[in-house]
Parts: sequence; C-alpha cells; structure tokens
Amino acid sequence: MNLVFLGPPGAGKGTQAKRLAQELGLVHISTGDILREAVKNQTPLGKKAKEYMDRGELVPDELIIALIEEVMPPGGGVIFDGFPRTIAQAQALDRMLEKKGMKVDRVVLFDVPDDVVVERLSGRRVCPNCGAVYHIKFNPPKNDEICDRCGTKLVQRDDDREEVVRNRLEVYRKQTEPLIEYYERKGILIRLDASKDIEDVYQELKKVVST
Ligand code: ADP
Ligand code: ADP
Ligand code: ZN
Repeated sequence: MNLVFLGPPGAGKGTQAKRLAQELGLVHISTGDILREAVKNQTPLGKKAKEYMDRGELVPDELIIALIEEVMPPGGGVIFDGFPRTIAQAQALDRMLEKKGMKVDRVVLFDVPDDVVVERLSGRRVCPNCGAVYHIKFNPPKNDEICDRCGTKLVQRDDDREEVVRNRLEVYRKQTEPLIEYYERKGILIRLDASKDIEDVYQELKKVVST
C-alpha cells in the first residue's frame, strides 16, 4: 500500500505518519525531513535547497523528483508526507510507481482551518539532534523544552516564524491545493478532520486507511 498525506504545513501529517508507518510497517518518507538533514550536512542538495526553504518557497521539482527516485523502496509500501506538493511532482510519482506496477492507493487530506494551523506551527518545537517533534501546548516533552528521546534542548524551526509561515500557507494554496482535485478525479482522496486532538485524529486515520 502507498499512501500520500496531503495538507497545509502544521496540519499534523508528520506526527501521524510516524506513528502509522510504525504500526503498519510502512516506510515514512518526509521530503521536509530529508531536506533539513541535507541542509544540516551541507550536501549538494542541501546547498541548493536552503534558500528556498528559508523563504518558505518550494524547492524546484527536478530536485525533489530526483530525491524521491533515490529513496523509493523497490517494493513500495510508503507513506509520502509532504510530497507531492505540485502537479508535476504528482505526475512524476504516478509514472515512477507505474513502472514498478504500483500506484498511489489512497490520499489522505488533513483538513484544518487556518487559525489551527497557525497555532500548531507557532508552538512547534523540534529536536535538532534526533528530529522528534513536539508542541509546547498540545504535545509537550516531559521536561521543559528538552527532548524526551535524547535529552537535547528543543528549538523552533526557522521557517516556523510568523513571516515565513504566512508565505508557506500562500504557497500551499497556490501550488499544492490543486492536488486535491487531481486526486479527487482519480477517486482516491479521503478527507480527514485533522482539527481534533492527536489521539482522535490517529484513530480516525486508521479507520479511513483500512476501509
Ligand atoms: P511542513 O511539515 O511544515 O509542511 P515540510 O517539513 O514538509 O514543512 O517542508 C519544509 C520545507 O521544505 C518547505 O517549505 C519546502 O521549502 C521544502 N519542501 C519539502 N517538501 C517539498 C516538496 N515536496 N516540494 C518542494 N519543496 C519541499
Ligand atoms: P506537519 O507535518 O503537517 O507540518 P506536524 O506533525 O509537524 O505537522 O505538526 C505540527 C505541530 O502541531 C507540531 O508541533 C505537533 O506536535 C502539533 N500537532 C500535530 N497534530 C496535532 C493535533 N491533532 N492537535 C494538536 N497539535 C498537533
Ligand atoms: Zn531528540
């Protein structure tokens, strides 16, 4: 089974994808996580991607598509989180899977109003060491601002600052929202009310991907 998680930044895609991938034995592919790792390690990809990410713009399609080709497991079984984000990326994914006799089986649209997204992004804190994601109010670590898993001091992502958030939401609307119709036409889009708490969303998510 190949799943795509679609939705605005801060909708909770990564939080849910990590847990569901573990429970169902799927591979979680987050292009955002891979890009941030590349930036941290100053790889050629990271150097090209950084300026786009800092501005909240999309990294060019060719770079993202090449990246996905590189990390795609041959047998599939993937949760794509934050990819595709443009029609060109979606078409490239369809072609890539088709060559291997696979397809996107379901697309889960994380439906959340803008004010919820802004609240989630502004309280998001991440571990710069292991990548764990927290929220100061909705999913706090046990000890103030310290990662539960590795003890590192949590940080706010640079692109979660308010000016950049506004641009990311605009980019989502212009470049990514057209994917809703793209997948709706294929009859594989499922809308999920992602404004509930983390546990409720997870239970609902499990239901919609198993029916
Ligand atoms: P969020 O989880 O808040 O939606 P991501 O971690 O998915 O953000 O992405 C962070 C940044 O990485 C994006 O603003 C964009 O610059 C870049 N990025 C991630 N995935 C893609 C993609 N599929 N296409 C283009 N750029 C991407
Ligand atoms: P995305 O991957 O879609 O950008 P994240 O999974 O990183 O979103 O979640 C964004 C922020 O909101 C994080 O701080 C996370 O802890 C928090 N969060 C995720 N899901 C929920 C939820 N259902 N209710 C409240 N906060 C949530
Ligand atoms: Zn950590």
